[in-house]
Amino acid sequence: MTSINQTSIWIKNPLAIFAENSDGGVVIKGQKIIELVPLGGSPVSSFDEIYDASDSVVLPGLINTHHHFYQTLTRAYPEALNKELFPWLKSLYKVWAHIQPEMLAVSTELALSELLLSGCTTASDHHYLFPSQLENAIDIQAEEAQKLGMRVVLTRGSMSLGEKDGGLPPQSVVQTKEQILSDSERLIKTYHDSQEGAMTQIALAPCSPFSVTTDLMIETASLAQQYDVRLHTHLAETIDEENFCLEKFGLRTVDYLESVGWLSNRTWLAHGIHFNKEEIKKLGRSGVGICHCPSSNMMLASGICHSLELEEAGSIIGLGVDGSASNDGSNMIAELRQAMYLQRLRYGASKITHQKAYNWATKGSAALLGRNDIGEISIGKQADMALFKLDELRFSGSHDSLAALLLCGAQKSDRVMIAGQWKVVDGKIIGKDESELISRHSGAAKKLRQLANA
Ligand SMILES: [Zn+2]
Repeated sequence: MTSINQTSIWIKNPLAIFAENSDGGVVIKGQKIIELVPLGGSPVSSFDEIYDASDSVVLPGLINTHHHFYQTLTRAYPEALNKELFPWLKSLYKVWAHIQPEMLAVSTELALSELLLSGCTTASDHHYLFPSQLENAIDIQAEEAQKLGMRVVLTRGSMSLGEKDGGLPPQSVVQTKEQILSDSERLIKTYHDSQEGAMTQIALAPCSPFSVTTDLMIETASLAQQYDVRLHTHLAETIDEENFCLEKFGLRTVDYLESVGWLSNRTWLAHGIHFNKEEIKKLGRSGVGICHCPSSNMMLASGICHSLELEEAGSIIGLGVDGSASNDGSNMIAELRQAMYLQRLRYGASKITHQKAYNWATKGSAALLGRNDIGEISIGKQADMALFKLDELRFSGSHDSLAALLLCGAQKSDRVMIAGQWKVVDGKIIGKDESELISRHSGAAKKLRQLANA
């Protein structure tokens, strides 16, 4: 531990803050929050520096719990436009099969940078493409996240049910169960940090019922239990998927999940839209968490998650931007606004407040990842924070600053801190040339399209 890491700083008198009893700000020491300062008060702890936050809205760092970073290479892709999930996937699988290691690296760097600038401090990625040239995909992602200093939960995705066995993906992107399980074990041993304040964690994530064999689901669940890591998958995203499960397994999605030993509080699901009342109760009782992905669900016309019924039943709700071919952005603060508005269509405005959206993206998302050291501005938690200024035309004339951030449509944070270190200052990632990154990334995206069309 260097002396720099033990610097203490008072983030003083925020314009607004999403935290209890902290209107006078917070004191950070090293990588943790050590004191909450009440309105008009001064810290009891000593501090080395002051950051004047009087023109900033302070949030706990936002936590994204579902993404596919590589999809930033196929945004607004001509052959995938205006389609729903299955035809959309089929038109993209054959493109994604050509992704090269350097393309995955730059797409990970871009997605993480975009998330960071939108106030996200922890991101989970669901990478499930392992064609022969990409067998080290998760290693590549871990390296990129470490370079940026972002907290990540990299989920080792997998596909084992190809077209020839009745699955959706082409054979070129599926692996055998043995390959998948041994690589999963290797990645857990190499990268998974189970300690408080962990920067890199691994979870296991077979892709979806229509791309994974039953035995892989079962054995992945036992591997996760053996190493105490979390389980993640897509479930109940579309009616096509429900029909697939009924035809292939003779079971609805939740019965299928139960049959493979996944109904537990170790599991969080992406989407979780098409559940009936009994299924919602069952999921809640088992403590299965749900990552709501509003933009993607609207873009692919998949449906609207039953967030409040799931919460009432006992499930935790978090948020995710989903992959950048179905969002097509990776903007976390913008996703909160989408979640709030989409859920209002189902439940009305009074039940879906801006505070609820903030909770989903912070405490809720942290719980989905099995973390209690992040997602909240309180004493002893990691110092992960996102600061936004209301100095753009869109905010002028607003009165409640915390509400304004979502209602007026914030897009970009001014400062972001991860583990007590500033990563974004004045709206820029420290040490990152954005135009150079765009040039490298868009070059990789063009090259991918050429390979796919060759
Ligand atoms: Zn997804």
